[in-house]
Amino acid sequence: MKKLRIFIDMDGVIADFDKAKKLLPENKQGRPDLHVDYLYLDYIQGAEEAVEYLNKHHEVFIASTPPWSRIQCWADKRAWLERWFPDLKRKLILTHRKDLLIGDVLIDDSRYRGQPDFKGHWFWFNKDWENKNWKACLEFIKKLENEEI
Ligand SMILES: [Mg+2]
Repeated sequence: MKKLRIFIDMDGVIADFDKAKKLLPENKQGRPDLHVDYLYLDYIQGAEEAVEYLNKHHEVFIASTPPWSRIQCWADKRAWLERWFPDLKRKLILTHRKDLLIGDVLIDDSRYRGQPDFKGHWFWFNKDWENKNWKACLEFIKKLENEEI
C-alpha cells in the first residue's frame, strides 16, 4: 500500500458549516463565514470513520481557511479539532493558499483558495453528492493506495 500525504478541509468536509448557516437569521446568511460559530459546528456524517481510516494508513493534515477578520475563529478551529479529532494534534494548517500545500491529495469542497492549482489530486468534495461524499472519497483514495491511478 502506498502511503499518501493527505490534506483535509474543515468546513463542508469534516465540519457541518451548512447546518450552522441554515440556523442563522436571514439577514446574516449572505456572509455566513462572518457569523457562524465555528466552535460549535457538528461534524459531517461519515467524517469520523473516514478520518480515522486515513490517519491510520496515511499522513493526514487538516487544511482550513478561517475568516481573516475574525481572529477568534482561528483559535476556535483549533479547539474544534481537538474536541472531535484529538488524534490530529498538531496537524492543523490554517491558510488562504491551498495551492502551496505539497502532498498527494487535497479533499476540499471549495475552489476559491487555490484548490484547482494544488499539485496533487484535488478531490472536489460534496457531502450531498453520491460520487463526491466520504464513501466515494475513500474509494478514490483506495485506488491511489493501490496505485491504480
Ligand atoms: Mg470547505
